[in-house]
Amino acid sequence: MSILRAQNIQKHYGDLKVLDGIDFQLDEAKISAIVGPSGAGKSTLLHILGTLDQADSGELYFKDKDISQLKGSRLSNFRNSAIGFIFQFHNLLPEFTAEENILIPAYISKKDEKPSLERVKELMKILGIEQRSHHKPGQLSGGEQQRVAVARALMNNPSIVFADEPSGNLDSKNAEELHSLFLKLRDELGQAFVIVTHNKELAAISDERHEMKDGKLGRLD
Ligand code: ADP
Ligand code: ADP
Repeated sequence: MSILRAQNIQKHYGDLKVLDGIDFQLDEAKISAIVGPSGAGKSTLLHILGTLDQADSGELYFKDKDISQLKGSRLSNFRNSAIGFIFQFHNLLPEFTAEENILIPAYISKKDEKPSLERVKELMKILGIEQRSHHKPGQLSGGEQQRVAVARALMNNPSIVFADEPSGNLDSKNAEELHSLFLKLRDELGQAFVIVTHNKELAAISDERHEMKDGKLGRLD
């Protein structure tokens, strides 16, 4: 089943046309990779698909519900419950422990503490960081920090995780481990991902590949 569908998405910054009629579709339990040169508009598209930014025009459907006009608290409630984000730089809060960082989305959604803590423990176990719950980001390796960021993205059980260069700041060993985790999350939890990446291995293991070029998104292979 299709969980996300975008049609004819357009986006300008002043005179610069960044997205020139993008169509995109994502199915459940699929990893979709978006590749392309720097400045091609990949992050812009990811932010629009993830409702962090608004298109100038076009349609965006989540499970056949039109979400392109959502605003204010209805938009943030939708985003908090349906979508997770992972960025190149993990954006963890340095003063909070790994466990507290992972809890943030549940806290924002005002979820009960006890089931949330259980969910944190379950996620930390899946991601192999259960020994790190009381460490602060500065006490963790780069690979561990990124796995904490993945756990935070998964906290509210999102339908889609959007990742912008998730392995861009990792060495090849940690990058490979992160990529294996994405496959595991897809296979074991049915997690869907949209991933912007320059990493050829990550693109290769994805279920589908798209290339951003001259404002258009084309399907590769
Ligand atoms: P990519 O992710 O493929 O590197 P981006 O989506 O970040 O590309 O950027 C696409 C183009 O849009 C670039 O030329 C960039 O400079 C421009 N751009 C991105 N965000 C903004 C913004 N907020 N204001 C003006 N121009 C922007
Ligand atoms: P870039 O893609 O250029 O590296 P970032 O990914 O750091 O930029 O952030 C892009 C936009 O997403 C910014 O406007 C930022 O405020 C917003 N943003 C970053 N993290 C989150 C988050 N966890 N939740 C909601 N919005 C976020």
